[in-house]
Amino acid sequence: MLRLLLALCLLIAGCSNPDPLTHQTRYMMGTLVEFSLYGAKRSTAESAINAAAEEMTRVEKLFTTHHASPVAQFNRGKGALPDEVAQLLVISEQIRQQSGGAFHIGLGALNRVWGFSDDQATNRTLPTLKQVAALLPPAQCVVKKDGEWQLVDRRCQLDFGGIAKGYAIDRGIAVLQAHHIRNAIINAGGDMRIIGQRGDKKWRIGIRHPRQADQVVATLELAGDISVVTSGDYERFVIRDGRRYHHILDPSTGEPAMRAMSATVISPHSATLADGWSTALFVRGRAGLNPLQQAGMIGLVVDRYGKIDSSPAMRQWMVPHGKR
Ligand code: AMP
Ligand code: MG
Repeated sequence: MLRLLLALCLLIAGCSNPDPLTHQTRYMMGTLVEFSLYGAKRSTAESAINAAAEEMTRVEKLFTTHHASPVAQFNRGKGALPDEVAQLLVISEQIRQQSGGAFHIGLGALNRVWGFSDDQATNRTLPTLKQVAALLPPAQCVVKKDGEWQLVDRRCQLDFGGIAKGYAIDRGIAVLQAHHIRNAIINAGGDMRIIGQRGDKKWRIGIRHPRQADQVVATLELAGDISVVTSGDYERFVIRDGRRYHHILDPSTGEPAMRAMSATVISPHSATLADGWSTALFVRGRAGLNPLQQAGMIGLVVDRYGKIDSSPAMRQWMVPHGKR
């Protein structure tokens, strides 16, 4: 009798309370991308995730500088930029202007000579000062002539690595929304956009510590539509003579930027803007918080000594230490 009751209870619990969270992980854009959807029917959630992942893969192929992508062709002087790429170029140019030149879409040639986009990042020779100087592009690398974008100079090569992941996340969220998903997170290796809530709770996320991977510098509780993107010097780097060389370059020197260990941007606008600005904030360090706020976003910087600075408005999202 007891066994029968127990089985009946489990059955009822199983029917009336199905797990409302659908969680899937895919490898894309060189990182693990997690999809967490709350409150949708399992079959609806799964087909929404499939469609979002497919869209994000399309975006990845459009913006890569590898293979025969439209961006790679354009960099070789072959072919015009597709409209979608040109739109992200315009946004990138706005971020360049508003960030005082810290975000620079034309660093492709320099990025290649530094080699941090390659897989074997740890054991290779670093470029000489002369090589870096020869490839350092002018502040503005693109102009529109007769309605078409052109590179101004052979030192200029487009590289969307600082913003395309955010754009892919936005496209993924748009596809989820088109499938009537209202509550979700797409988290691409710590860069994410959140929509809605997790039932009656907010989504809780951590910003990782740039030197202790298992620790967080802040825990945030977020709901609605908000993006959180972090740029750090711990993703791809080598250490030579005690200095850390990594993949985010200061466009004024052509060398890895030295003002921060990590920079996080929270944006109510889009993951695209959060991504572009996180790269810019990393380059500028705490001085980047002002222009970031003027652009309607807030941020947190861990400087090169490990000191944390953040926009005052950041506090409203932070979970106090004791409650973590
Ligand atoms: P993120 O991790 O979003 O900060 O992007 C870093 C990537 O953006 C690098 O791997 C490069 O492809 C590219 N990048 C490096 N420095 C810059 C910069 N100053 N502005 C724009 N893109 C950059
Ligand atoms: Mg970025």
